[in-house]
Amino acid sequence: MTITCQSSFQRNHETDKPEGSGCLYLVATPIGNLEDMTYRAVRTLQECEIIAAEDTRQTRKLLSHFEITPSMLFSYHEHNKGASGPELIRYIIEGKNLALVSDAGLPAISDPGADLVALAVSHGIPVIPIPGANAALSALIASGLPTASFTFIGFLPRERKDIRAVLSGLRAVQGTLLFYESPHRVAKTLVHLQEAFGNRRVVLARELTKRYEEFLRGTIEECIAWLSEHPPLGEYVVVVEGESKEEAEIAESSWWRELSIEQHVEHYENSGLARKEAMKKAASDRGLAKRDIYNALLERE
Ligand code: SAM
Repeated sequence: MTITCQSSFQRNHETDKPEGSGCLYLVATPIGNLEDMTYRAVRTLQECEIIAAEDTRQTRKLLSHFEITPSMLFSYHEHNKGASGPELIRYIIEGKNLALVSDAGLPAISDPGADLVALAVSHGIPVIPIPGANAALSALIASGLPTASFTFIGFLPRERKDIRAVLSGLRAVQGTLLFYESPHRVAKTLVHLQEAFGNRRVVLARELTKRYEEFLRGTIEECIAWLSEHPPLGEYVVVVEGESKEEAEIAESSWWRELSIEQHVEHYENSGLARKEAMKKAASDRGLAKRDIYNALLERE
């Protein structure tokens, strides 16, 4: 492994620009409310020679609101990142400072920004975060669910079997789970969540920082019922309670659930118990009489 160290001390604190080469600035923009734009974000966008944006039309509106005139506005999105990324890196290597913005919030969260950052890091380019609004964390802190530990998932895949695979891997996560979702799919996503996790507590955070900001708090079932009466509108963060202690205990005590009776008995035999003892243990796990285990094994033979 090669250790690299990008030190903030190399920076001139007046301008935030490292001496010598160009830098990649990751500039947060508002997720709705324009007052969430920071002074530092405005200054950085004014000072950078290049601004790369996911949606240049959207970004032009933001820039004109803050009276920022970009010298170069580049498009960088999912479908052109393969060609656009290396071109942007070349500009930075030539000495230009580049600010990356996404449509809203923090760049590199659920958008292709992370690829540009990886490319910059691999070229030894300093990467400087300019923090600000973020939908997932804003939803989490206001959700009322535990914040000590959380997992950000972002958008779920589209295909049912892929959704199930992702959710089954998250079932035993004890921290709060954060998903991004569109209004068209939020109700379906809740059904998937209920299938995978049972009727946990959930918070639907909608239109954060905007005029119709709303937090819907309830069980998954209650929220599904609410959405059937109140069609979803706007952008959503779905905040889901992690696995509870009780759920964890049940899961732990029924580790054998996926096993056949034969496999269950074999498991104990493999751990060193005599067959009779193994049958007794399997019967006790399953709340069955030893006779039932014996009969089940006989039927298999
Ligand atoms: N980079 C952004 C961030 O830092 O939060 C996230 C961008 S992601 C492409 C867009 C998704 O974020 C939306 O589909 C929605 O799930 C969530 N989102 C963005 N703005 C939101 C808002 N104002 N209220 C609720 N969710 C929002």
